[in-house]
Amino acid sequence: MPPTDPFKALLISKGDAGQQIAWTELTLADLMPGDVTVAVTHSTINYKDGLAITGKSPVVRRFPMIPGIDLAGIVTTSEHADFKPGDPVVLNGWGVGETHMGGYAGMARLKGDWLIHKPDGLSPAETMAIGTAGYTAMLAVLALEAHGVTPDRGPVLVTGAAGGVGSVAVALLSKLGFKVIASTGRPSESDYLKSLGAAEVIERSELAGTPRALGKERWVGAIDSVGSATLANAISQTMYGGAVAACGLAQGMDLPASVAPFILRGVTLAGIDSVMAPKTKRIAAWTRLARDLDRDKLGQITTTYPLEKVQELAPQILAGQIRGRVVLEI
Ligand code: NDP
Repeated sequence: MPPTDPFKALLISKGDAGQQIAWTELTLADLMPGDVTVAVTHSTINYKDGLAITGKSPVVRRFPMIPGIDLAGIVTTSEHADFKPGDPVVLNGWGVGETHMGGYAGMARLKGDWLIHKPDGLSPAETMAIGTAGYTAMLAVLALEAHGVTPDRGPVLVTGAAGGVGSVAVALLSKLGFKVIASTGRPSESDYLKSLGAAEVIERSELAGTPRALGKERWVGAIDSVGSATLANAISQTMYGGAVAACGLAQGMDLPASVAPFILRGVTLAGIDSVMAPKTKRIAAWTRLARDLDRDKLGQITTTYPLEKVQELAPQILAGQIRGRVVLEI
């Protein structure tokens, strides 16, 4: 594309009146430095994108900023040895959409070190149906596996189950043979969660109260995207030698927990970060996603919209009203 050709972008700026957001036309000259230019074909919305667009949390730390922490597209120019024009690529995180201009635009200029080649067997739209939420769910599954959590040892809990991380986690874990207990605040989504492979659906209020130091042992592992009292309850009800992967804060950032499960049951709390995860870990997660995520279930989880819908979706994802994952077509 000629460098002077305009493309559409969602731009967040900051003035005296605070954060403002508007659609605009930019050219490549408006983008930030990088060694690979990508024609963006698909993006998605994650919880963090909701925070950036609404300004509810100081996610954006450089202005003006194009939000969008995930993108898939085709390389148009490259000065990076690993990429050439025509390569399909995927980007998740690395501060893109926060400190480096992101995915809600026709074009992106990025560091090649941040990119991965699109995994074989997944379409660009499917990579965004997975997105940071799904790739984080896979990182959490890998963490449970690394701590010896296997289907023969007992069930696993997934909290925030009807959300993005949760839905992909339920689908992945059930495919791997786990008995999945899905916790949700939306009992109306019980059939949806069971169709993804949940064996049991529990009301999230069950895990929202003040946790006991040691609760009844109910699961050998858990993937928690909710934090706060829910995470504390998940830990206190984890079986001897089990592990809990903590990746989110939809309920809150606090952790009103006791050390008892750690020192009396040898429970492990594994922290999951997708944003700065090294490339080898990303490639391992995406390779496993291509292998272990049932495509029909991924389709069931996914709703597709044009990019222009993203501002409407942002408050909805923060309110926990979006089921599963969204693909944005650019
Ligand atoms: P979603 O909004 O899609 O899902 C979050 C889910 O959490 C909701 O669907 C809801 O599930 C549940 N939930 C929402 N509010 C509450 C509440 N007050 N109390 C209990 N449960 C609640 O977001 P994502 O799946 O994209 O992200 C989930 C979390 O993971 C976010 O906090 C996000 O920031 C974090 N995250 C972290 C990453 C990392 O690298 N560590 C990467 C990606 C995401 P239900 O309706 O089923 O109850």
